[in-house]
Amino acid sequence: MELLAPAGNFEKLKYAIHYGADAVYASGKNFGLRAQSSNFTNEELIQATEFCHSQNKKIYITVNIFAHNEDLAELEFHIKFLSEIKVDAFIISDPGVFSLVREFASEIPIHISTQANVTSWKSAQFWAKLGAKRIILARELTIDEIKEIKKNLPDLELEMFVHGAMCMSYSGRCLLSSYLNARDANRGNCSQPCRWKYNLIEDTRPGNSFPIEEDEHDTYIMNSKDLNLIDRVAEIYKSGVDSIKIEGRMKSLYYVANVTRTYHNAILRAESQEELSSNVQDELNKISHRVYSEGFFDSFDSMSTQYHQSSAYIRDYQFLGEIISQNQGEITIAVRGKFSLGEEIDLIFPDIKDDLTIKIEKIFDEEEQEIPFSKPNRSVKLKLNNTVPDWGIVRKKIR
Ligand code: SF4
Repeated sequence: MELLAPAGNFEKLKYAIHYGADAVYASGKNFGLRAQSSNFTNEELIQATEFCHSQNKKIYITVNIFAHNEDLAELEFHIKFLSEIKVDAFIISDPGVFSLVREFASEIPIHISTQANVTSWKSAQFWAKLGAKRIILARELTIDEIKEIKKNLPDLELEMFVHGAMCMSYSGRCLLSSYLNARDANRGNCSQPCRWKYNLIEDTRPGNSFPIEEDEHDTYIMNSKDLNLIDRVAEIYKSGVDSIKIEGRMKSLYYVANVTRTYHNAILRAESQEELSSNVQDELNKISHRVYSEGFFDSFDSMSTQYHQSSAYIRDYQFLGEIISQNQGEITIAVRGKFSLGEEIDLIFPDIKDDLTIKIEKIFDEEEQEIPFSKPNRSVKLKLNNTVPDWGIVRKKIR
């Protein structure tokens, strides 16, 4: 079973691969449904594809907007370019974009995006007959429904989301953001108004807003929990699903790395029929997240996927930076968050068994001068008494 991780930019892509992803999904500057993510220039897409293939990994490109007439000419150009650089698949939801790929990049496999909301084996069969290689199933399916799709279409690849944010609409089929903020969710620009806190204003009393209180926590009437299926990976593995996917192209490098290694570990355990250890599962509580849920995995109970008390992230750990080099027991960190003398920090690595917690006794700046704390966007050095694996990330507990 493949582990598919998000790559919001080239740096995150490299961490996803080094932390255990078998494949990544990414997008060019347009057409990929995450307009707020930094995404990839054409030059970066060439380099990213070469990098993935050099590591024996795959790269799938999202072209899953619902295209308007004005998009078509540029889309054709983009599809031809992606065909030339030999990406491993297109992720598509719009039949018009599907036709363009068939016409101009017929040798590249097509994966049908979750945005196409495939919820039955008949719908999956429809796309398969048109030539789709894989279906990224709607999030709104139970595992029993997924098994039935696999039973009816054993040769069709199935992919499912196992982790990350969910929509309160059928994945992205929603005009809230267009309506309230003129930002089109179906062209990658959702501003997430479903998570806003709403008040009531009477027509003749502007400026006088009344809280809409469901209870003492106010009312977040449309606020989805985050999906977390780490405890169900063994069942998913047995169900015949071909690929599990992590949401989060706009999340941090630390999120991508830590979630990827956790699910990588879970797949290894499922393959060897071992239990997943609780300290591995705990890693998913050490990233910024909303209240977790198992989505629709057991039943189509949409109330259990919503959280009405707050849309704020739960954040117990802070991402502090990456270890960019080491030399004779000294590590250099590209700093993203402040840390000070006397604090404890965690150094985490692709294999969780290598993780370390250390107390900071000395910090050196770029000129080798001792300093009391790190400053973001600089690099600092710390002394360790041992060597550590490559691709380390630094974090600290904040709550
Ligand atoms: S507003 Fe909310 S439900 Fe609608 S597309 Fe955006 S995230 Fe999804």
